[in-house]
Amino acid sequence: MTECMAMVVEAPERMVRRRFPVPEPGPGEFLLKIERVAICGSDPKLYKGFHKRSSFPKILGHELVGFVDRLGPGAAKKYGIEEGERVVVEPYILCGSCRYCLTGIYHSCERERNYGVSFTCDRPPYLLGGYAQYMLVIEGSKVHHIHRDVPANAAALTSVIGNGIRWVRTKGNVTLGDSVLIIGPGSQGLASTIAASLSGADPIIVTGLPEDKARIELAREFGAHHGVIIEDGMDPLLEALAPNGGNLYDLVIECAGAASAISLGLHCVRPQGRYVLAGLTGGKKVELITDRIVNDEIQIMGGHGQAWDVEAAVKIVNSRRFAVEKIITHEFPLAEADRGMRFFMDNPDKCIRVALLP
Ligand SMILES: [Zn+2]
Ligand SMILES: [Zn+2]
Repeated sequence: MTECMAMVVEAPERMVRRRFPVPEPGPGEFLLKIERVAICGSDPKLYKGFHKRSSFPKILGHELVGFVDRLGPGAAKKYGIEEGERVVVEPYILCGSCRYCLTGIYHSCERERNYGVSFTCDRPPYLLGGYAQYMLVIEGSKVHHIHRDVPANAAALTSVIGNGIRWVRTKGNVTLGDSVLIIGPGSQGLASTIAASLSGADPIIVTGLPEDKARIELAREFGAHHGVIIEDGMDPLLEALAPNGGNLYDLVIECAGAASAISLGLHCVRPQGRYVLAGLTGGKKVELITDRIVNDEIQIMGGHGQAWDVEAAVKIVNSRRFAVEKIITHEFPLAEADRGMRFFMDNPDKCIRVALLP
């Protein structure tokens, strides 16, 4: 096998099938045979060309699981893997020498390299994204073992679960019995629900819009005590606080990225409470009454990426305690990635996440 297929975004909103030579892994590298890749919520921005790292041509895909196909010199020892093993590869690639890599927050690495996001595919080794049959795993990657009995759609979402852990625990510092409000029941909100549930938060409330009914159902399955659908004409603040006895929350996680949701979240945090902003607005301005932050000494934090939180995510996914695979609601063959991407963008009411099958 000397060639393989990959889907290439050649220009904004144009993704086509292409064939590439399969690279021979060099020292510290290995070839990954992709089993499953999920379309991330940030992939449509790269696809449309308005992501800060948009460039063309590009093979997207950074949420993936696969099998170790061919090992380069030293890679078996370096990663503790052998050929045929099932692994997830984290999206971020460490330079290993900047202050961020050296202090363990490698998603802020100064070289800013991640699979399916930062590389173009117009020069060797070409295959550095997951919408492909094979991907080259290069030096500086983080690799984890995934049990054979874990559904591929769950394994592909390991880094998403890592996000939830980062926002709820590493940033949000949740503790047993904390009241937690999660705004937005997309994949990131659902991952946050799992992290809050495992942390013994009580109550956990997840809010969404009328089109989010199925997502709210899944949040309940993942441990949310109540789901709140905010309909037109309702007072969102009253609705969000009602299941917490009308009280403000210890921790609020904002995963919707809409101006109204971000402002709502601030009004739901208790004095001295924590507010983690994880939703991106795409550069839009958001009006906030900052007196609340000052007077009530609210701690506001950004949440992005998942360095070191993937270790725990792998354990959660391997444990099969949560049906993480249910976050993926639709599957498309890899060759129909363009159709899958459009379906994902056009159907937020019935689609949480899409997976591609090579
Ligand atoms: Zn992602
Ligand atoms: Zn670095």
